[in-house]
Amino acid sequence: MSALYRMSLKESRDLIRAGDIRAEELTAACLSRMDETEGTIGALLVRRDAEALEEARALDLARAEGRMPSVEEAPLWGVPVTVKDALTLKGVPCTAGSRILEHFMPPYDAFAVERLRSAGAIILAKTNMDEFAMGSTTEHSAWHPSRNPWDAERVPGGSSGGSAASVAACQCAGALGTDTGGSIRQPASLCGCVGLKPTYGRVSRYGLLAYASSFDQIGPMTRSVEDAALMLGVIAGYDKRDSTCLDAPVPDYTAALNDTHLKGVKLGLPREFFGHEALCPGVKKACEEAMSLARSLGAELVEVSLPHTEYSVAAYYVMAAAEAGSNLARYDGVRYGHRAENPASLEDLYVRSRTEGFGEEVQRRILVGAYVLSSGYYDAYYRKAAQVRRLIRRDYDEALTQCDALLAPVSPVTAWKLGEVHDPLQMYFMDIFTLSLNLAGLPGLALPVGLSEGLPVGMQLMGRALDEALLLRIGKALADALGTEGQAAPLL
Ligand code: GLN
Repeated sequence: MSALYRMSLKESRDLIRAGDIRAEELTAACLSRMDETEGTIGALLVRRDAEALEEARALDLARAEGRMPSVEEAPLWGVPVTVKDALTLKGVPCTAGSRILEHFMPPYDAFAVERLRSAGAIILAKTNMDEFAMGSTTEHSAWHPSRNPWDAERVPGGSSGGSAASVAACQCAGALGTDTGGSIRQPASLCGCVGLKPTYGRVSRYGLLAYASSFDQIGPMTRSVEDAALMLGVIAGYDKRDSTCLDAPVPDYTAALNDTHLKGVKLGLPREFFGHEALCPGVKKACEEAMSLARSLGAELVEVSLPHTEYSVAAYYVMAAAEAGSNLARYDGVRYGHRAENPASLEDLYVRSRTEGFGEEVQRRILVGAYVLSSGYYDAYYRKAAQVRRLIRRDYDEALTQCDALLAPVSPVTAWKLGEVHDPLQMYFMDIFTLSLNLAGLPGLALPVGLSEGLPVGMQLMGRALDEALLLRIGKALADALGTEGQAAPLL
């Protein structure tokens, strides 16, 4: 048997259920993998070694005493996972990568965390992230940057870069990330993992520290499509504590994964993406190879248009900043967050607490947010962006009448070096292929499709609202044919 920590969620779950390995053994293997790899990649913020081992032992005991629930009740029984630091775990420090929350101890579990726990998963650690999920590299974490397990000189992507690096380095088989403008799909792609951004409202945001509430979605990051399906099935579903959560039945996402062909499936190629000047040749080539493979599996490929793509960066960064500005108003040193010492006045308390607590990128977004919502500029910026958002959704709806799902690159380039991109605008433009899907609120599955100069390339499948099962089915057939699943970064 290969090293325990390399197994998929599904494989390890099955072996534990069959009694071939113990949950404690697997947890210990993943923890020692963390010891080996953390010095290089820095994927984690808080570890729960002792608690995790104790929880694993309790599961092993339950199994030995015949108290193991059925696989339907506990589909992740005994498998170790990690969780982005934007989600709360009761009694575990939660900072969302920000100094302003340095001493925050959440009194409750996020909905997705509750679901993982009741499915039997063992949460090993909280993963690093860009501060309040604002960024594309994890360099904006207030604590330390994370590094790409494929090449430690390079970024793992962001903002869920810690989760992606943790999965790619086999510290765990699955992690939770969040995607506001690409933060699951982009780091998954840069680290060679699978990442699924569900339809807006599919997963409850209860217990997620908000960045831009009308965009934020929680989703799985794994090394295989099947594992993503398994995790989504666990975390999806209605929760009355999030008023935007959809009350729609949760299908068995793993059920449709056995089709190995794509006959009858029509895939749309958005002209504006594949013809984009930012798309580098190596990424384009890997995506084209995956496309011809899709064709040989029986899919029909058609060109479609998303005509408002070029406005997505501007519309997203206006709207996300506006929402971020209002969401972060609560961290004022009085109600929440870090409080400055010896303030001279109330004003001084607010200003210094927020200046000391928030990093540069977050401050930039708050300023932009306040500006675009101010009375003189609301119509020119915020309202305009909201109108563009509507048009982008319409583009997707129209394109998805001509096909079942869209295929597109995730990031125009492979992982770049730490410190290489420092102009904020340049960084924002790197998100050109991910943002519009969040503006539209639709689901997207990022798949590893190969390498370019030794670095992973990701491609995304984008679909209609609540059509995750179809994306997973197509993704599984493609990944099987490509043989890109389960790849672990060679460096480690
Ligand atoms: N890079 C984008 C931003 O900084 C998206 C981040 C995200 O999805 N959380 O806003």
